[in-house]
Amino acid sequence: MSTHVGPIDVDALRARLDKAATAASVAGVDALLISPGSDLRYLIGAGGSSFERLTCLVLPVGGTPVLVVPKLEQPGYAGIPTDRLGVDVVTWVDGEDPYALVRGALKGTRVAVSDMMPALHALGLRDAIGGEQVLAGPVLRELRMRKDASEVAALRTAGAAIDRVHARMGEWLRVGRTEAEVGADIAAAIVAEGHVQADFVIVGSGPNGASPHHSLSDRVIEAGDVVVVDIGGPIAEGYCSDSTRNYVLGEPRDADVWETYAVLQAAQKAAVEAVRPGVTCEQVDAAARRIIADAGFGEFFVHRTGHGIGMDVHEEPYIVGGNDLPLEPGMAFSVEPGIYLPGRWGARIEDIVVVTEDGVESVNNRPHELVVLPA
Ligand code: ZN
Ligand code: ZN
Ligand code: ZN
Repeated sequence: MSTHVGPIDVDALRARLDKAATAASVAGVDALLISPGSDLRYLIGAGGSSFERLTCLVLPVGGTPVLVVPKLEQPGYAGIPTDRLGVDVVTWVDGEDPYALVRGALKGTRVAVSDMMPALHALGLRDAIGGEQVLAGPVLRELRMRKDASEVAALRTAGAAIDRVHARMGEWLRVGRTEAEVGADIAAAIVAEGHVQADFVIVGSGPNGASPHHSLSDRVIEAGDVVVVDIGGPIAEGYCSDSTRNYVLGEPRDADVWETYAVLQAAQKAAVEAVRPGVTCEQVDAAARRIIADAGFGEFFVHRTGHGIGMDVHEEPYIVGGNDLPLEPGMAFSVEPGIYLPGRWGARIEDIVVVTEDGVESVNNRPHELVVLPA
């Protein structure tokens, strides 16, 4: 098992470690305790996941970072240039107490732990360290939310790759096939077009399209079905794609499809056009919601307008009512309003956009229209 995937830019990672330590200091904590996952990948380039044996980057304010890692998992970190990153590595073997090792690497007892650290480790650290624990997410989001040029480039690469999959949808999406069969072909194409893996494949046909997070089923696709296809995954650099388009097999069965779809298209367009520095997240949400509500479909738009995206498919900033965070250049998120008519059909249009110096760039560029495929 190798935990290193994708290229590593040592200078960029060193800068991130410095910025993270500064952000920790501003937040009033003595150290960040980072377990494997997107936070660790963001800071030192190490992929991999958490297991019952503790792996933890101790990032103190004003001190040398220490990676505590089980001896048997150390080979997986061989690709990480810890020397050049200025990170000490401390290994431990079964029978030793890794939480005590973390305590030994700390100067203070107020720590911020990764949001997604397993409770097993968070509570183990709490018992060993005492003091106070807070979440590291609010500290790291200040860095991760604002993408630099190389991160935006990676999101563009991911966006173009998923656009190529949508462009090929007619090869697989046909009457008489099940959602699961179509989904398997899409998943293979997601990899073939440049992703490391398919993280999710939603093929919501007919009434299943009215369930926003439907995944796949054995329902056989019929003539007249509207089909919601929401797909994505990470590329080698670790950045994710996520794009939704809608298809119909021949003429839509329901008479209201074209008119309702036009409302959704207008709402998605208005929200994208609202994006620029200084506009708040909730204003972008409101731009889509107002159009859908004015057309009488407010109660059928049952989720927020979007989510941030980067090394995680869902991360800050969330494009939701109540979030008065002003947008800044480099922030990347989805704009994905939907209209879901229970028992009948649904549709969602989703692009990933990046805030630029004076406006917005979309990394997804497929047409937004309801695509008619032969029935
Ligand atoms: Zn979603
Ligand atoms: Zn999506
Ligand atoms: Zn999404």
